[in-house]
Amino acid sequence: MYKKGMRRAAALLAVCWLGLLFRAAAETPAEKLERLRAEQQAIEQQIEQNRTDAARAGDLVNLYTAKEQNVKAQIAVLQLKIQECEAQLAGTQAQVAAKLLEVDRSTQSFEARMKGMYEMSRQSGLAVLLGADSLSEMLTFGEYLQRIAVRDTRLIAELTARREELAALAARQQAELDALDASNAELEAAANEYAAALQQANARLSAAQAAEQAGAAAFAAKEQEIAAAEREYAEWAAQSDNDAPEYTGGAFYWPLPGYSTGSPMGWRTLNGVQEFHRGMDIPAPLGTKIYAAADGVVSTKAHYTYGTCVKLSHGGGLVTIYAHMSAWAEGIADGVPVKQGQLIGYVGRTGRAYGYHLHFEANLNGAPVDVRDYLG
Ligand SMILES: [Zn+2]
Repeated sequence: MYKKGMRRAAALLAVCWLGLLFRAAAETPAEKLERLRAEQQAIEQQIEQNRTDAARAGDLVNLYTAKEQNVKAQIAVLQLKIQECEAQLAGTQAQVAAKLLEVDRSTQSFEARMKGMYEMSRQSGLAVLLGADSLSEMLTFGEYLQRIAVRDTRLIAELTARREELAALAARQQAELDALDASNAELEAAANEYAAALQQANARLSAAQAAEQAGAAAFAAKEQEIAAAEREYAEWAAQSDNDAPEYTGGAFYWPLPGYSTGSPMGWRTLNGVQEFHRGMDIPAPLGTKIYAAADGVVSTKAHYTYGTCVKLSHGGGLVTIYAHMSAWAEGIADGVPVKQGQLIGYVGRTGRAYGYHLHFEANLNGAPVDVRDYLG
């Protein structure tokens, strides 16, 4: 029981200590900016992904459009062939029908003639029995009858053969037409398939384009959020707190005793980029003590550029800023008044800093001023 209580107390102490040191509970402006930038980067990656998707979908749209057009052209050619074939078949079938009619007519007239002959021969035979003229007449009539029969039979056979030829031709043409119809059905199926694929690709393309637009909007919104966060910080840095004491003038206390000035305020080139340096950089080892330049009221903030930072409002619109600290000094918190030469923090390299140094900056009514003007 006792041990458990001790552990809890120790844990509580650790949390208090961490809270004092890092203000871990709430999101600092630096953390906020980092989060916003990470979110923006994620959006950018998503936009890139959407662009790739859109490009792929666009390729598919082009591919299926080409395929569909190709199949449609093939179908058009095939349709012409089918029409031609159908016309031929209709012609042949008409010929078959005509020939069939001819065969029927010839057969009918042959039958009629044969019937007539039979009647005549019957009557002639009767005439012979009743005492007809002569046997030679009978014979002549028989030959005549036979000749007619042969001629008619041959005619009918020829007509039938011709009709069968035409029927065979019609069957061949029908088979050809059937094959063309089958090909056409295949092409139509392919065309339908391509049309469906094209529709899908188009849907994918519009979805990717919509996502890309949404991403661009989200990116712009995040950009505005970041700009607002930066503005918020700049306003904080420039603003002299209202409850600050009146700056009475007099020389600044040098915040890093024993360490001389480094890079001064003004334009400089950092990593090939021209930028305005708002303060003075004083190199010093990690943990070197930093002291207040003048009496003032504390405001603390962390920033992605300045890192762990203290701003002192001295009144009269004058503020001093101490950036890239490794930690705030004990008791340094928002609204706390400090005296000139009081310990406020320790040298570090938090934020955008290359090597351990103190960034020491002064602003008068929001505009940077050279701290050397206040050193006396
Ligand atoms: Zn600096």
